[in-house]
Amino acid sequence: MYFRAAVLEKKNTIKIKKLKKPTNLQKGQILVKILFSSICHTQLQEIEMKRGKNNFLPHCLGHEGVGIIEKTYKDCKKFKVGENVCLSWVKSGPSISKGNIYQDVKGNKINSGPVHTLNEFAVIDETRIYKLSQNKNLKNKVLLGCAMPTIFNIFLENKIKKNMNICVLGGGGLGLSFILISKSLGCKKITLLDKNQKKLLYLKKKFNINIFSSMEKIKRESYDIVVECTGNIKIFEMSLNLVKKFGGKMIVVGNYDKNLLSKLDPWHIIEGKTLKGAWNSEINFKNKFSKLENLFKKLKTDFYFSSKIYKLIEINKAIADFKKGKVIRPLIKMR
Ligand SMILES: [Zn+2]
Repeated sequence: MYFRAAVLEKKNTIKIKKLKKPTNLQKGQILVKILFSSICHTQLQEIEMKRGKNNFLPHCLGHEGVGIIEKTYKDCKKFKVGENVCLSWVKSGPSISKGNIYQDVKGNKINSGPVHTLNEFAVIDETRIYKLSQNKNLKNKVLLGCAMPTIFNIFLENKIKKNMNICVLGGGGLGLSFILISKSLGCKKITLLDKNQKKLLYLKKKFNINIFSSMEKIKRESYDIVVECTGNIKIFEMSLNLVKKFGGKMIVVGNYDKNLLSKLDPWHIIEGKTLKGAWNSEINFKNKFSKLENLFKKLKTDFYFSSKIYKLIEINKAIADFKKGKVIRPLIKMR
């Protein structure tokens, strides 16, 4: 039996291919019937070859999705056939299996990593699969595969208090996830920077936040927390100017082109500002996922997706619309 998958053949070239459904699963491998998937900016960088050398072409794509367990490896204790699950690049431990190699109709080899979600069926390492306790509103739970765990981890690793002055740079999926979670935890003083004026006005009304469309207009050295989600190296360079001296933190969440370097003024660090990432220890989301899912139940997330749900065969259209900013996250239905 064959199923469809989005395959990256070379830079900016994605083709829908028919791949043979695997029958033998190695230890650690789980066959998942994927229902919904999404795309983020890190995946765009992968498609545009901005993440360094890619030795695995052609390969499957996607690292955030939801699906149903179709088959498990022999003696698997963690998952059962028929369970609803979330698929994520975020690990719950070291990988157990090697990436699966699929075959297309002509017998060509197609590579895959431990997680890939733009497939009708996918062989996924069990450390990238999280059981969903609540099966309502499955499609929105694609967000639990990428943006949400990254942002949630910031809250787990940093003491963010309700009265803190927070500045979020970039109102895409990551920035919005930060605003949603901080609002649900009672934070009041939130400022957002984004270049899209229409989006800013919508978000100002929706979340009762301060908005800015240019870095120069934001007050310097007045924020306890600055969360950099733009992936823009120029913004990264200027962000430490906004952080409060002696105790303020800048947390970098956006991903930059691997070839770019940045200049920073060391006086920011001398004056007691902290610069850190979203993940400050070995990425391991074991025991954290259910806490995130409980929090997620309370968040209203429909506005991330437009009313349009893309089909897998419309993957290139979904990517084009995402690049143009028509959707915060494109939602892709596998069948
Ligand atoms: Zn992602």
